[in-house]
Amino acid sequence: MGKINKSITELVGKTPLLELTNYEAKENIPAELIVKVEYFNPNQSVKDRIALAMIEDAEKRGLLRPGVTIVDTTSGNTGIGLAAIAAAKGYPFRVYIQDQVSEERFKSIHAFGAETIKLSDDPGVKKILDETGGDFVAAIRYLENEVFADNPDVVFVNQIGNPANPNIHYLTTGPEIWEDTEGKVDIFVSAVGTGGTISGTGKFLKEKNPDIQIIGVEPGPDSLPSEEHPQPEHEITGVHPFSEKIPREMIPPTLDQNIYDEIIDVEALDAYEVVRKIAKTDGILLGESSGAAIYAATQVARRPENKGKRIVVIAADSGLRYLSTALFGE
Ligand code: PMP
Repeated sequence: MGKINKSITELVGKTPLLELTNYEAKENIPAELIVKVEYFNPNQSVKDRIALAMIEDAEKRGLLRPGVTIVDTTSGNTGIGLAAIAAAKGYPFRVYIQDQVSEERFKSIHAFGAETIKLSDDPGVKKILDETGGDFVAAIRYLENEVFADNPDVVFVNQIGNPANPNIHYLTTGPEIWEDTEGKVDIFVSAVGTGGTISGTGKFLKEKNPDIQIIGVEPGPDSLPSEEHPQPEHEITGVHPFSEKIPREMIPPTLDQNIYDEIIDVEALDAYEVVRKIAKTDGILLGESSGAAIYAATQVARRPENKGKRIVVIAADSGLRYLSTALFGE
């Protein structure tokens, strides 16, 4: 039977698992390292899942009607996913974007006909960021309360506070991993931004098997802004700290802090190196956060108690999204 899709919305999810067999062999890794390759989504990242879920949730709740503008604040992948799905469904889309986002992302969002506003170009947001030392959550709270509130012509999908974000991972990402591994998965590793991926996927997997270890990855100290280095030389795009390194009020509500068993710090340069290695061993070009998650998974795989275990790692996006950045630039 033929199968012709009528909308990109039909192409979201059902991404493949790939075991990094050559990397395992070359690095003498004594466990199975399997990546879920989220760049198979129609706009090449895990965020297509939440873009579709949040838009369809707003439609169901009657908030989105023709002519209403969808707005969000994003590090990039969600912006691209929302821009594409808004275009396919015929809604205007405006995105408030972090300054350090790569050129490819700006251009992709504009290609879908969406409008971008740099966070620091909004005077109100800039004031909050300056006063709080870059508290992104506080900046978004300001936009939500002062700019979007009570405006019926915009729908703020708010990826860091929208339950549709973790929920779509509970409904799709978790079940896909469970089915494709036929329930044989011991450890799940994901980098954390909004926490949607780890929270929803982790919840599904733990319900199926409470013994599955859930591991969250956050940037190490050299890859985070500090007093001495307000702008670190290298960062892991889309990934944010969520341990006791940051105040509780900065943790997004989309992260379930009870879901993970362990947090592993990874530095950006270590993540980049893994990306470059895997491109050469297995012929797959992944993004920075995928490199961070695989770096962490490699450490976990080397622990004696994990010999022979199966580790599933989220590879959130493609290296093609970072061609102009330090990931390949040095
Ligand atoms: N990797 C990349 C490249 C991302 O853009 C994001 C989302 N910011 C993540 C990982 C983290 O995903 P989540 O927001 O679901 O925690």
